[in-house]
Parts: sequence; structure tokens; C-alpha cells
Amino acid sequence: MTDPQPAQTSADLFPILYTAGTLFTGLGGAQSPGGVIVSRGSLASKPAVAATGHPDLLRQNYPQAREVDAGDIISPLPANAHTHLDMSAYRFQALPYFRWIPEVAVAQQAQRGLAGALAGAETLARLGQPVGDIVWDPAVMEALLPREDLSGVLYFEVLGPRPEQAQERFARFREQIEGFRRLERPGGLRVGVSPHATYTVSAPLLQLVTEYAAGEGLPVQIHTAEHPGELELYATGAGPIWEHRLPALYPATFAEVMGRPPEPDLTPVRYLDELGVLRHRPTLVHMVNVTAEDIRRVAEAGCAVVSCPRSNANLECGRFPLAEFLAAGVEVALGTDSVASGETLDIRDELAFARERYPEMDPRVLLRAAVKGGARVLGLPVPQIRRGEPWRDEYLWSRSD
Ligand code: ZN
Repeated sequence: MTDPQPAQTSADLFPILYTAGTLFTGLGGAQSPGGVIVSRGSLASKPAVAATGHPDLLRQNYPQAREVDAGDIISPLPANAHTHLDMSAYRFQALPYFRWIPEVAVAQQAQRGLAGALAGAETLARLGQPVGDIVWDPAVMEALLPREDLSGVLYFEVLGPRPEQAQERFARFREQIEGFRRLERPGGLRVGVSPHATYTVSAPLLQLVTEYAAGEGLPVQIHTAEHPGELELYATGAGPIWEHRLPALYPATFAEVMGRPPEPDLTPVRYLDELGVLRHRPTLVHMVNVTAEDIRRVAEAGCAVVSCPRSNANLECGRFPLAEFLAAGVEVALGTDSVASGETLDIRDELAFARERYPEMDPRVLLRAAVKGGARVLGLPVPQIRRGEPWRDEYLWSRSD
């Protein structure tokens, strides 16, 4: 008779010390270098976190531990706080913004929709990354909300620059949102709202949607200050954004969209603030072309910001002033935007690019934004690697998967 179980040896029960260039436990700041002691009491018990800290200290305290070099990062998984999953079947192409819209976004429109959204959702579920997804098609809301392998927020999008249509559009939107909320599951994906951008939604519609969201506790994302032309639009009511609009959808002047005349010092952020939108604390996406005054307003209102560095670079929109936002105390998260402008949905790729884009920044600050900032924006508990909690191999970011 042979024992069908492999013999349990004492070596199997030795703790493992994983070491990495950087450890982020989810608590406090990230540390470099860092290590985690993973132990198991018996072969039957699941691996658990026994200690975290500097590798030297862990070696000293756990001399019997078997050491494994885990590469660059040990951390809970980051979140992709802004994307457009319904564009996941697009081919990526980097082009200046006003060429990218017709030559990529519009040219590949047939690729947009449910099939792409399902493929994108599959990718993020496999990566284990929570998502902040902007959704245009109600069928995508209905298909994704019941999924149990995703967490985060699906922000249903609304457009409408004509102020006279605001009431009617809002009534329809609200009805749709109420329907989607019946599909929410406890602990699952949540319904959010997204007035598309500060200039594609009229002032009364922006107010109606954000006031409704605040009253219902729904999270909000708004594309804000992405292209440098937005500053010109609010200052003069003209410029490239206005020239590239679809005239049939818009009133005769931009002043009518925003319900006030343009002014030299008016910016998208000041406009949102004076409209009463910022006080509802929407999450602002991009925020590349902003003034020092804008950053102060956002910090004072307590809004979080999602930056998509690859998309901004690929569309030549500029560089998000990360250090200035962090210095002002603003919560910053990372998003990929769609694969059509951001190339992949894995936020670890975004983080790698951000490290190159901000060589002067401490990379640990970027890691914290990707993990903790992302969870905060999406209203999820910040994941933590803590003593006594189960160990998960996904904490080793360099593992092949
Ligand atoms: Zn976007």
C-alpha cells in the first residue's frame, strides 16, 4: 500500500519570504525594498500573511524562511478607474486628438458595442482589476451589471448640449438609471452616471444630472479639461473644439450651451464650480489643461481626479500636472481610457508608462494612486495585505499570467 497523499515534509511548512523592489500593503505609503512572510500551519491550511516590512527585519525574525525574489512590486491589485469597455474591439492608434476622432473613433464605429464590452470585461475579470467604465449603450449596462466577476462602477453616459432639451433628456435618463439600479447586486458592480464632458452637456442638464446623482448617492464621472482647446472654448466661445462639433446637435453659440457668456478667465473647472456641480464632488477625468486656480477649486471641493497618461500622450493632449494635484491633497487614480487611445486595459501598463512620464516622481506615489486612489474613486474598500489575512498570489505583480 502506498499513501495516495505525498508525504508532508517540514520543508513544505517553512514560511516563504517574498521580497520585492517595492511593497505596498494598502496602508500608509509604499516601501522600498519590502517583503512579506507567508506561512501555512499545515498542508491543509491556506497560506496566510504572517508579517510585512523591510526584508532585513523579516530575515532576522524568520531565519527559517525560504526566500523568493518576487521582482518589482508586491501589492494588492490596482483598479482601472476610467475606461470605455465598449471600444475594446478597436485597433489602437496614436494620432492628434482632432485626427483621432474621425480617423479612429468614428472610422471604427462598427466595432463599438456589446461584443467589445464583453471582451473588455473578460480581460479585466481575468486581471482581477476593478473598473470604472463609461457606458453608452443600455444593452451594455444590462449585460455587465449582473456579472459576479467584476467590481467597480458602470457610469451611464448622457450627452445633450441643447439647453431646451435638458428636462426631457433628464427624464428619460432618470428612468433608464432607475431600471439599471434594479439589476445591481449587493457587493457587485454599481450604477453611476456620466455627463459626457463639460461642453457636450448643457448647463441645465449638467445640474439636473449631478443633483439627482447627489440625492441618490450615485457616483459621477465627467471628462474635464482633456484638450488644450477647452480653455479657448470657455475663454472665447470659439476655437478648434467648437469648429469640430457636429453643428446639427448644438445651439448657435457656445454661450447658449453653458448659459453664460465666455470670459477670458473662465475655464471648464471654474464653470463647473460656479454652476454648482463641483460641490457634488464628481470625479473629474483627464484634467490635463488646468490652471493653478482650477487645482485649488478641485481640492477645496474634495473632488477626486482620474488621469489617463497614455491616452493623453497618444492624443497629444498634454501632461497631467500630477505633482501639483498631489501637493494640493487631491486623490488621484489612474485609468486606461479605451484601448483605442490607451492601447491596453491593464492598469499595470498605465502605471509603467506613468513611471516613464513622471521620472521626477517617486514611483511609490504612482503605485499608491493606481491601487488606493483607484479603490477610493470607485467607492471600494482599499485592499490590504495584512497579518492574519489570506495570502493571494496575485499580490506578486511579476508573476506570469
Ligand atoms: Zn474617456
